[in-house]
Amino acid sequence: MKVFLIASILSLVGSCATEKYSTKIQNLKDNIKISDTTTIRSYANTITSTELKNLLYTYASKEFEGRGTGEEGQKKAANFLKTYYVSQNISSPINDSVYFQSIPKSYFPDDIKATENVVAYIEGIEKPEEVLVISAHYDHLGIEDDQIYYGADDDGSGTVALMEMAQAFKMAAKDGFGPKRSILFLHLTAEEIGLQGSRFYTENPIFQLSKTIANLNIDMIGRVDAPHENNSNYLYLIGTDRLSKELHLLSEKVNETFFNLDIDYRFNDEDDKNRYYYRSDHYNFALHNIPVIFYFNGEHEDYHQPTDTPDKINYPLLEKRTQLIFATAWQLANRENRLILNENM
Ligand SMILES: [Zn+2]
Repeated sequence: MKVFLIASILSLVGSCATEKYSTKIQNLKDNIKISDTTTIRSYANTITSTELKNLLYTYASKEFEGRGTGEEGQKKAANFLKTYYVSQNISSPINDSVYFQSIPKSYFPDDIKATENVVAYIEGIEKPEEVLVISAHYDHLGIEDDQIYYGADDDGSGTVALMEMAQAFKMAAKDGFGPKRSILFLHLTAEEIGLQGSRFYTENPIFQLSKTIANLNIDMIGRVDAPHENNSNYLYLIGTDRLSKELHLLSEKVNETFFNLDIDYRFNDEDDKNRYYYRSDHYNFALHNIPVIFYFNGEHEDYHQPTDTPDKINYPLLEKRTQLIFATAWQLANRENRLILNENM
């Protein structure tokens, strides 16, 4: 009898606690307001499949030799990015003309040469010291056995998405719609050799990590995987709720408001056998308690093959996915408060 009584009291307490938690989530959800919808739509529309395609056909061409970390092709790619930001009048947070964050050879095991992350940013108007980081790795596997690994999807798609988003944010800023917080466009090197570029950045951050509000990381968003052959209007999001449920809810609301992509969370499962959450650069930010979203199209037959070429990219889909990330970034950079971390709920 006693045991029973205790058990029933416990279950009562348990259900109250659960209710309280679900009320909290509901409140979070109700408090998320999507602002600037018309403005966002008009600048999102400057991100076009034609421009993405033009950039990617250059970026994933022979000239860049598969962008192996520390190799000639990667240096060419770094310069290509720098030239682009200079031409767009988008500055660097380090110094006007220094777009490279150098990583010395000594940081790596024996056979890897010195390399660099590429950085560009748009300064926030109200809270310039707070920053949203949008990242994509720009290295790939280079040349092996005389074959170029073009890496059009991995991660040429993320690279050109960043370039187009930066351009859209810059246009908005010129028209008087600059972001409240700063936005860092972080092109990471040395991802393919173990997330080294993001590890280096988080050890040597340009903006304090405590002022880094979130990281949106893009790694492969230009293709369709086998499970979605018949419904290409999808994207995998990973990590959205791990550190901030509010980020998850905000991301959902942005998608519902503007795009209605079919968001697939199967790889966000804590038990995901592929362990994607740990396998791209966002993870180094998450390790520092910075909320992240990892945007990903899943693997396909050309993943890490020389056949990952720009002709196989679905450009209208790449456009839509990039616009989704742009709109999410806009909300994060401009909302009143920083995201609530789960640990503070
Ligand atoms: Zn990748």
